[in-house]
Amino acid sequence: MLQQASPSAELPASLSPSSPGLVIPSQMNGHSSDPNAHGGELREDLQEFLGRDTPLHLLNDLTKVNPVTLETVLRCLQARYMADIFYTNAGCTLVALNPFKPVPQLYLPELMKEYHAAPQPQKLKPHIFTVGEQTYRNVKSLIEPVNQSIVVSGESGAGKTWTSRSLMKFYAVVAASPTSWESHKIAERIEQRILNSNPVMEAFGNACTLRNNNSSRFGKFIQLQLNRAQQMTGAAVQTYLLEKTRVACQASNERNFHIFYQICKGASVEERLQWHLPEGATFSWLPNPERTLEEDCFEVTREAMLHLGIDTPTQNNIFKILAGLLHLGNVRFADSADEAQPCQLMDDAKCSVRTLASLLWLPEDPLLETLQIRTIRAGRQQQVFRKPCSQAECGTRRDCLAKLVYARLFDWLVSVINSSICAEPDSWTTFIGLLDVYGFESFPDNSLEQLCINYANEKLQQHFVAHYLRAQQEEYAVEGLEWSFVNYQDNKTCLDLIEGSPISICSLINEECRLNRPSSAAQLQTRIESALAGSPCLGHNKLSREPSFIVVHYAGPVRYHTAGLVEKNKDPIPPELTRLLQQSQDPLLKVLFPTEEKSQEEPSSQSRTPVLTVVSKFKASLEQLLQVLHGTTPHYIRCIKPNSQGQAQTFLPEEVLSQLEACGLVETIHISAAGFPIRVSHQNFVERYGLLRRLLPRTSPGPYSPFSDEGHSGWSPHAKEATLQPLLQDILRTLPALTQAATPGD
Ligand code: ADP
Ligand code: MG
Repeated sequence: MLQQASPSAELPASLSPSSPGLVIPSQMNGHSSDPNAHGGELREDLQEFLGRDTPLHLLNDLTKVNPVTLETVLRCLQARYMADIFYTNAGCTLVALNPFKPVPQLYLPELMKEYHAAPQPQKLKPHIFTVGEQTYRNVKSLIEPVNQSIVVSGESGAGKTWTSRSLMKFYAVVAASPTSWESHKIAERIEQRILNSNPVMEAFGNACTLRNNNSSRFGKFIQLQLNRAQQMTGAAVQTYLLEKTRVACQASNERNFHIFYQICKGASVEERLQWHLPEGATFSWLPNPERTLEEDCFEVTREAMLHLGIDTPTQNNIFKILAGLLHLGNVRFADSADEAQPCQLMDDAKCSVRTLASLLWLPEDPLLETLQIRTIRAGRQQQVFRKPCSQAECGTRRDCLAKLVYARLFDWLVSVINSSICAEPDSWTTFIGLLDVYGFESFPDNSLEQLCINYANEKLQQHFVAHYLRAQQEEYAVEGLEWSFVNYQDNKTCLDLIEGSPISICSLINEECRLNRPSSAAQLQTRIESALAGSPCLGHNKLSREPSFIVVHYAGPVRYHTAGLVEKNKDPIPPELTRLLQQSQDPLLKVLFPTEEKSQEEPSSQSRTPVLTVVSKFKASLEQLLQVLHGTTPHYIRCIKPNSQGQAQTFLPEEVLSQLEACGLVETIHISAAGFPIRVSHQNFVERYGLLRRLLPRTSPGPYSPFSDEGHSGWSPHAKEATLQPLLQDILRTLPALTQAATPGD
């Protein structure tokens, strides 16, 4: 039976003056795809009758703004934000506005328990805990437990990580209902460990950027695993696209990953000595160290690592390697006048190489040589040639070494966290997945990173629309309701352009990597434009001076520069670097670079195996993720940043507007509002409006009268809402006359 979706605090939702029609505007309108076509008339009647307006900030659901436009949605969100109401339903989605100030009362364990204990949590104020509780109940269902997922999206700084973290805390509270002391201890340990994974992953994977002091530089999907008793027994984390370039290259006014600052600020005198981090030392890969952030707390990271089973010697090993990377950043080469001679180290860099070699436990001369000289294998006998690198190439190799070590370290850390928090395979039956991914991105300069991120967002949008429409269709079929869909934006054409077969942007970029031919940015642009000219989602900005192409995403057009795309996609790792690291005597580097791992990164011209490019790896992990999501009931939380300065009580409409467009929110609301936004159970309806029966002329058509139970003790659940419609129209038509008749003095 359809339920009332979103009751407002005072008025019954069905009589909210701003609701888009009592039951179903689209049906009343003869299947119009415009949810407001006739609904307005009815609403005006109703408003007149009720003689009052619901203040915008009290509208808990954006499907109830009238009409549903970007402007009205924006006004409603603004009114709520200014009234310190940060969560709003938007049909099947929850909109979360970033308060940019502490609101501790919103996240108290008592409140979590309130949502958990509520008979109908959706009747409480909109909150992420409603979504949390809904998913928890769905996996708990005895009849049909279904795995759940929550996709948290939004642009950087919008509050995705905060939301995911708060949801994890929610589950840690509600999913810990132990039956015995022993199981209580186990439950506590595992929940605490799962929560402890957050500060560790954030220390190594987050950084201060222009848009967020604690910006996650990777995507994360965490699967919270539950047993039959609905206790959390474990979790599994999957990460996506760590921005490893940050370790060697930080934009001005941004910082490296938090962990580097934590070490430099938090290490003891003894540790500083061991890690060669004297007080006052400067590192070029440690910009803006004077900025103090709350994320700089080394102790919190160490403590959390300990809880995850990473003991102090292992931690020190990690930090020693990271200190080594800081010294690597200070390695500089002078330009060589003679091409046949390797570039020499700058004077002040000699000491850095020595320190680096000792921290990474590497032989000093081969280390330096690896940075200076390229070895090339060629010919039938695979003869080895040595070619001195240019100054710029030496720098690239240095950066590549840092990225290689950091990325391996991060992956290893994730695997250690996983083994610490994972449950035994047979100790869990269902899961709730939390996806915290970068939102849609469009900058003045967009490259492969943005292409991957926006591609992922397209996939998620497709999944969302397909799932939501399917779910609605099934629900209406069960209720026996007629229904015509609104025209929604299908992003298949755009996805075909990006990933389709046989030719797409991804396949063309991959092809360039495979052929390994010298190709300019302009050539790549021409190839893309001519091969994909037929796609309506491909555009070209004729005014652009740099080679680029435009993809018209569902969230708007984005211009991607072709310069550097192929190189980034190859992400080449000179095999000498891996071989060098395999020579290390450091216990952790030995694990990260095992000697038995051979040739994986060795390019071979004879090899027929497809080149593993960044795009192909990303595509594979995205497909895996979507497969997991397809097996779940998804829920969506759209995080919105009210302003880019991170200020409380500041709502900048233009900035919010672009985010609403980017997440297709109005589209979503239209889909919801054009359907059956208000769902009243038959029983509630009769209880509330049964009185009207006596006042109405006996004209109600249909096989059943909703107010009568004569002969219909076994109401067909499929007919209830359908037969209510004509009756409701009668009520609405009659109400003004009734009120006039009932006015005192008459
Ligand atoms: P994202 O992951 O989307 O980039 P974050 O979750 O890191 O963004 O949020 C950015 C910052 O905004 C946080 O560090 C925090 O200061 C603030 N913030 C986000 N959500 C909330 C909230 N619900 N209450 C208070 N502050 C918040
Ligand atoms: Mg984040």
